[in-house]
Amino acid sequence: MLNPLKIYNTLTKKKEVFEPLRAPYVGMYVCGPTVYSDVHLGNVRTFVSFDIVNRYLRHLGYKVRYVRNITDVGHLVSDADTGEDKIAKKAKMENIEPMQVVQRYANDFHGVMKMFNALEPDIEPQATGHIIEQIEMIQGLLDKGLAYESEGSVYFDIEKYQAIGEEYGILSGRKVEELLNSTRALDGQEEKKNPVDFALWKKASPEHIMRWKSPWSDGFPGWHLECSVMSSKYLGESFDIHGGGMDLKFPHHECEIAQSVGATGHSPAKYWMHTNMLTVNGQKMSKSLNNSFLPRELVTGDHPMLEQAYSPMTVRFFMLQSHYSSTLDFSNDALKAAQKGYRKLANGLRSAKELEFVSEEGVAVNEKAKQQISGLCDNCYRKMNDDFNTAQTIAMLFNLLKKINQVHMGNLKPAEIGEETFNRMIDTFVTFTEDVLGLKEEKPTQAEEVLDIVLGIYQEAKDKKDYAKVDEIRASLRKKGIAIKDMKDKVDWAYDENA
Ligand code: AMP
Ligand code: ZN
Repeated sequence: MLNPLKIYNTLTKKKEVFEPLRAPYVGMYVCGPTVYSDVHLGNVRTFVSFDIVNRYLRHLGYKVRYVRNITDVGHLVSDADTGEDKIAKKAKMENIEPMQVVQRYANDFHGVMKMFNALEPDIEPQATGHIIEQIEMIQGLLDKGLAYESEGSVYFDIEKYQAIGEEYGILSGRKVEELLNSTRALDGQEEKKNPVDFALWKKASPEHIMRWKSPWSDGFPGWHLECSVMSSKYLGESFDIHGGGMDLKFPHHECEIAQSVGATGHSPAKYWMHTNMLTVNGQKMSKSLNNSFLPRELVTGDHPMLEQAYSPMTVRFFMLQSHYSSTLDFSNDALKAAQKGYRKLANGLRSAKELEFVSEEGVAVNEKAKQQISGLCDNCYRKMNDDFNTAQTIAMLFNLLKKINQVHMGNLKPAEIGEETFNRMIDTFVTFTEDVLGLKEEKPTQAEEVLDIVLGIYQEAKDKKDYAKVDEIRASLRKKGIAIKDMKDKVDWAYDENA
C-alpha cells in the first residue's frame, strides 16, 4: 500500500493527509512577485517549489486551478504601511509610467519562469485589475464593524477582530500583546487606533502617482487585501492550498487570513504551505542585502561568485535536491555538483527513451530485479507523497537509472524483467523526471559552432580531394537549408536561397 499524499500545513504545524475540499478539483493560490525589478534566484526557488506542487497534483489526476497573482500596486517599501509604493518609486526613478514598470518586469518574470520550465498558472490576476472588488471587500469589512476610516484611509481593526472571538496571529504564532510591545511609533501610524492595525485602503498624498477613486479618498489598496480578494474571486471563499515564501507568513498572510475570515466568516485556505529561503553564505538572498543573483547572471556566468555558467536545468536540479522547507545555500561547488547530477539524469532520459522491449524465448525471469524495480517505482510516489520530497525522489530516480543502465549495457535483458516491469521502469523514470520534476533535456543550441566544425571537416575533405565526402557534406547541409560557399581563401555558409 502506498502512503497517501501528506502536506506540511504551516497553519496547524503538522503533516496532514491531503484531502481536497472538492475532489477531484484542487484550488491553489500562490502569492506572485511584486514586479518592480528583475526576479532573483531566491524568488525563483519559491516559484519552482510551487511548480512542483502543481505538477505533482496534476500527475496524480487532480484538476488543479492554479492562481498566481502579479502584485502591481500597494506593496510599500516598509511593512508598516508607510513609505512609497515599490512600483511608483521605480517609475519615478526612471521617469516612466508605473504600468511600464509593471509590464517590463512581468515580462521578465514570465521569461524566467519559462526558462526554468515552470508551468504557467491557470489564472494570473493583477491587483490593479481588481480595484472594484477590493473596494467591495473593504466596504464589507466596514459594514461588519471590523474596519474603520481615518483621514481618508481605512484600517483593519484588530481589537474588534479579537472581540468577535477570532485570533490574529494564528499562522505566525505572534501574539497581539507582543506585537504591540515591539511596534515602534512610526510616521504615518498616528491615524491608526492601534499600531497593529493594518491598511486596507490608503489615501494617496498629492505626489503619489498610483491612485484610484473610492468612497473614502483618492488612494490605493493595501498589499494584503489583493490576495484575499483575488483568491476568493477565482477559487471561492474556501480553497485548498495557499502558498508563498516563509517571509510572507507575517504580516502578509496573517493579514490575509484576518481579512478573509472577517469578510466571509471562514478560513480561506485549508493547507498553508511556506517555502524556505535560498541563502548566500547563510544569509537570505535578497535585493536589499545586495547578495542576489539574477537568473541571467547564472546562465552567462557573469557574476564574481561564479566560476562558470550554469544551465537553467542545472539550477532547477540544484533547487530540487533539497526539500522546499529547508534553507538552501547557494554556492559554486553546489552548482557544480548539481551540473553533474543533472547531466546524469539527462543522459538517463536519452537512454530510457532509446530502449525498447524485446521478448526472447527461454530467458529466465529475474524475480529479484523485477521486485527491486517495482519497489523503486513505488518509492518515487512514496517520496513525493511525503510532502513533495523532491530530494529523496531524485535519489530514487538515480537508483532506477542504475537498472536502466544495466539494460542499456546489456547486463540485464528486458525479457528477464518482463514487459510490464520494463514499461513501468521506463515510464516512471521519464514521467517523474520530465513531468513531475520538470527536468527536461537541454539540447545543445550552439548551431553556429557546430556548423564551423562541419565546415572544417569539409575543408579537410576538399584539401584531400575527397570529392565524394565533399558532395555528401554539401548535400546534407542543403537538406537543412544551408548552402556552402567556397570562397577564395576560406569556406563559409549562407542560407540556401535556391532551396
Ligand atoms: P516578492 O516579489 O518580494 O513579493 O517575492 C516573491 C516571492 O519570492 C515571495 O513568495 C517571497 O517569499 C519569495 N522569496 C523572496 N526571497 C526569497 C529567497 N531568498 N528564497 C526563497 N524565496 C524567496
Ligand atoms: Zn499574497
